[in-house]
Amino acid sequence: MVSISAPMRMPVAYIIEFVKKKTPRILELFEKSKAEKYDVQPGNRIELLGEFYKVEKLLSDDEPVYDEKTKTIFLVTPIDSPEKRKWLYKKFADTLLPLMVENASREMGLKYANVYIKFQKSRWGSCTAEKNIYLNAALIRTPKPIIRYVIIHELAHLVHMNHQKPFWELVETYCPEYRLLRRFLRTNGNRLLMI
Ligand SMILES: [Zn+2]
Repeated sequence: MVSISAPMRMPVAYIIEFVKKKTPRILELFEKSKAEKYDVQPGNRIELLGEFYKVEKLLSDDEPVYDEKTKTIFLVTPIDSPEKRKWLYKKFADTLLPLMVENASREMGLKYANVYIKFQKSRWGSCTAEKNIYLNAALIRTPKPIIRYVIIHELAHLVHMNHQKPFWELVETYCPEYRLLRRFLRTNGNRLLMI
Protein backbone atom coordinates (compact mmCIF):
# COMPACT_ATOMS: atom_id res chain seq x y z
CA MET A 1 0.00 0.00 0.00
CA VAL A 2 1.17 3.50 -0.78
CA SER A 3 -0.39 6.36 1.11
CA ILE A 4 -0.15 9.99 0.17
CA SER A 5 -0.65 12.76 2.65
CA ALA A 6 -1.47 16.26 1.49
CA PRO A 7 -2.79 19.43 3.08
CA MET A 8 -6.60 19.52 3.44
CA ARG A 9 -7.15 22.36 1.02
CA MET A 10 -4.87 21.09 -1.73
CA PRO A 11 -6.86 20.57 -4.96
CA VAL A 12 -7.39 16.86 -5.71
CA ALA A 13 -6.36 17.40 -9.35
CA TYR A 14 -3.01 18.65 -8.14
CA ILE A 15 -2.51 15.58 -5.93
CA ILE A 16 -3.40 13.23 -8.79
CA GLU A 17 -0.95 15.04 -11.06
CA PHE A 18 1.77 14.72 -8.41
CA VAL A 19 1.16 10.97 -7.96
CA LYS A 20 1.16 10.41 -11.74
CA LYS A 21 4.47 12.18 -12.07
CA LYS A 22 6.03 10.22 -9.21
CA THR A 23 4.46 6.84 -10.00
CA PRO A 24 7.48 5.21 -11.68
CA ARG A 25 9.64 6.12 -8.69
CA ILE A 26 6.99 4.93 -6.21
CA LEU A 27 6.62 1.61 -8.06
CA GLU A 28 10.35 1.20 -8.18
CA LEU A 29 10.67 1.70 -4.43
CA PHE A 30 7.73 -0.60 -3.85
CA GLU A 31 9.20 -3.41 -5.97
CA LYS A 32 12.55 -2.98 -4.27
CA SER A 33 11.08 -3.24 -0.77
CA LYS A 34 9.06 -6.30 -1.84
CA ALA A 35 12.16 -8.00 -3.21
CA GLU A 36 14.16 -7.21 -0.09
CA LYS A 37 11.39 -8.55 2.03
CA TYR A 38 11.06 -11.95 0.39
CA ASP A 39 14.39 -12.72 -1.12
CA VAL A 40 16.16 -15.03 1.26
CA GLN A 41 19.27 -15.90 -0.64
CA PRO A 42 22.96 -16.35 0.14
CA GLY A 43 24.47 -13.06 1.20
CA ASN A 44 21.21 -11.64 2.55
CA ARG A 45 20.16 -11.46 6.16
CA ILE A 46 16.83 -12.34 7.71
CA GLU A 47 15.40 -11.78 11.12
CA LEU A 48 15.41 -14.82 13.38
CA LEU A 49 15.26 -15.03 17.17
CA GLY A 50 15.53 -11.26 17.40
CA GLU A 51 18.73 -10.97 15.39
CA PHE A 52 19.75 -10.81 11.76
CA TYR A 53 21.02 -14.15 10.51
CA LYS A 54 23.08 -14.34 7.37
CA VAL A 55 21.96 -16.78 4.73
CA GLU A 56 24.39 -19.35 3.37
CA LYS A 57 23.94 -22.00 0.75
CA LEU A 58 23.93 -25.58 1.88
CA LEU A 59 25.88 -27.89 -0.36
CA SER A 60 23.92 -31.05 0.27
CA ASP A 61 20.18 -31.60 -0.09
CA ASP A 62 19.48 -31.32 3.61
CA GLU A 63 16.63 -29.44 5.24
CA PRO A 64 17.19 -25.77 6.05
CA VAL A 65 18.87 -25.26 9.42
CA TYR A 66 20.01 -22.34 11.53
CA ASP A 67 23.03 -22.04 13.78
CA GLU A 68 22.60 -19.84 16.83
CA LYS A 69 26.32 -19.57 17.53
CA THR A 70 27.34 -18.14 14.16
CA LYS A 71 23.90 -16.58 13.43
CA THR A 72 23.70 -18.35 10.12
CA ILE A 73 20.88 -19.95 8.15
CA PHE A 74 21.78 -22.73 5.75
CA LEU A 75 19.39 -23.60 2.96
CA VAL A 76 19.18 -25.21 -0.46
CA THR A 77 15.83 -24.02 -1.83
CA PRO A 78 15.78 -20.39 -2.90
CA ILE A 79 13.26 -18.43 -0.87
CA ASP A 80 11.79 -15.90 -3.28
CA SER A 81 8.12 -15.62 -2.41
CA PRO A 82 6.07 -14.78 0.67
CA GLU A 83 4.84 -18.39 0.76
CA LYS A 84 8.33 -19.87 0.79
CA ARG A 85 9.47 -17.36 3.36
CA LYS A 86 6.59 -18.41 5.59
CA TRP A 87 7.46 -22.05 4.96
CA LEU A 88 11.01 -21.41 6.17
CA TYR A 89 9.91 -19.62 9.34
CA LYS A 90 7.32 -22.31 10.01
CA LYS A 91 9.96 -25.00 9.67
CA PHE A 92 12.19 -23.31 12.23
CA ALA A 93 9.25 -22.59 14.54
CA ASP A 94 8.16 -26.25 14.39
CA THR A 95 11.62 -27.30 15.52
CA LEU A 96 12.07 -24.93 18.42
CA LEU A 97 8.69 -23.96 19.88
CA PRO A 98 7.38 -27.39 20.96
CA LEU A 99 10.66 -28.03 22.81
CA MET A 100 10.36 -24.73 24.65
CA VAL A 101 6.73 -25.51 25.58
CA GLU A 102 7.81 -28.88 26.94
CA ASN A 103 10.59 -27.29 29.02
CA ALA A 104 8.35 -24.56 30.42
CA SER A 105 5.56 -27.00 31.24
CA ARG A 106 8.00 -29.16 33.20
CA GLU A 107 9.38 -26.10 34.98
CA MET A 108 5.88 -24.96 35.95
CA GLY A 109 4.62 -28.47 36.70
CA LEU A 110 1.66 -27.93 34.35
CA LYS A 111 0.41 -30.40 31.79
CA TYR A 112 -0.97 -29.34 28.39
CA ALA A 113 -2.65 -31.55 25.78
CA ASN A 114 -1.12 -30.48 22.44
CA VAL A 115 0.81 -27.62 20.99
CA TYR A 116 -0.18 -26.21 17.58
CA ILE A 117 1.96 -23.78 15.64
CA LYS A 118 0.53 -21.66 12.86
CA PHE A 119 0.61 -18.14 11.52
CA GLN A 120 -1.99 -15.86 13.07
CA LYS A 121 -2.64 -12.27 12.16
CA SER A 122 -3.01 -10.64 15.53
CA ARG A 123 -2.24 -12.93 18.44
CA TRP A 124 0.95 -14.49 19.68
CA GLY A 125 -0.63 -17.38 21.48
CA SER A 126 -3.76 -18.83 23.02
CA CYS A 127 -4.84 -21.60 25.32
CA THR A 128 -8.11 -23.56 25.02
CA ALA A 129 -10.31 -25.17 27.65
CA GLU A 130 -9.10 -28.51 26.23
CA LYS A 131 -5.60 -27.53 27.37
CA ASN A 132 -4.28 -27.03 23.86
CA ILE A 133 -1.66 -24.37 23.35
CA TYR A 134 -1.64 -22.41 20.08
CA LEU A 135 1.46 -20.41 19.21
CA ASN A 136 2.05 -17.99 16.37
CA ALA A 137 4.83 -19.25 14.09
CA ALA A 138 6.03 -15.64 13.76
CA LEU A 139 7.36 -15.95 17.31
CA ILE A 140 10.45 -17.50 15.75
CA ARG A 141 11.43 -13.97 14.69
CA THR A 142 11.44 -12.69 18.28
CA PRO A 143 14.20 -13.12 20.90
CA LYS A 144 14.03 -16.34 22.94
CA PRO A 145 13.03 -14.58 26.20
CA ILE A 146 9.95 -13.28 24.34
CA ILE A 147 9.05 -16.76 23.10
CA ARG A 148 9.48 -18.10 26.62
CA TYR A 149 7.27 -15.33 28.06
CA VAL A 150 4.46 -16.06 25.58
CA ILE A 151 4.68 -19.78 26.39
CA ILE A 152 4.61 -19.16 30.16
CA HIS A 153 1.68 -16.79 29.64
CA GLU A 154 -0.31 -19.46 27.76
CA LEU A 155 0.61 -22.23 30.20
CA ALA A 156 -0.50 -20.00 33.10
CA HIS A 157 -3.94 -19.93 31.41
CA LEU A 158 -4.18 -23.66 32.18
CA VAL A 159 -4.64 -22.53 35.79
CA HIS A 160 -6.33 -19.14 35.37
CA MET A 161 -8.51 -18.60 32.30
CA ASN A 162 -8.38 -14.81 32.73
CA HIS A 163 -5.93 -11.97 33.16
CA GLN A 164 -6.62 -11.21 36.79
CA LYS A 165 -4.07 -10.68 39.55
CA PRO A 166 -3.43 -14.37 40.44
CA PHE A 167 -2.78 -15.04 36.74
CA TRP A 168 -0.08 -12.35 36.53
CA GLU A 169 1.42 -13.51 39.83
CA LEU A 170 1.84 -16.98 38.38
CA VAL A 171 3.42 -15.55 35.22
CA GLU A 172 5.76 -13.42 37.34
CA THR A 173 6.91 -16.44 39.38
CA TYR A 174 8.43 -17.99 36.26
CA CYS A 175 9.10 -14.85 34.28
CA PRO A 176 9.92 -11.95 36.65
CA GLU A 177 10.76 -9.60 33.76
CA TYR A 178 7.41 -10.17 32.01
CA ARG A 179 6.45 -6.47 32.04
CA LEU A 180 9.49 -5.59 29.98
CA LEU A 181 8.85 -8.43 27.54
CA ARG A 182 5.20 -7.40 27.10
CA ARG A 183 6.35 -3.90 26.34
CA PHE A 184 8.71 -5.26 23.68
CA LEU A 185 5.80 -7.09 22.04
CA ARG A 186 3.62 -4.01 22.17
CA THR A 187 6.31 -1.91 20.50
CA ASN A 188 7.62 -4.41 17.94
CA GLY A 189 4.68 -6.76 17.61
CA ASN A 190 3.02 -5.38 14.48
CA ARG A 191 6.24 -5.36 12.51
CA LEU A 192 7.16 -8.90 13.58
CA LEU A 193 3.69 -10.25 12.78
CA MET A 194 3.98 -9.09 9.18
CA ILE A 195 5.94 -11.86 7.52
ZN1 LIG B 1 -3.62 -14.27 28.02
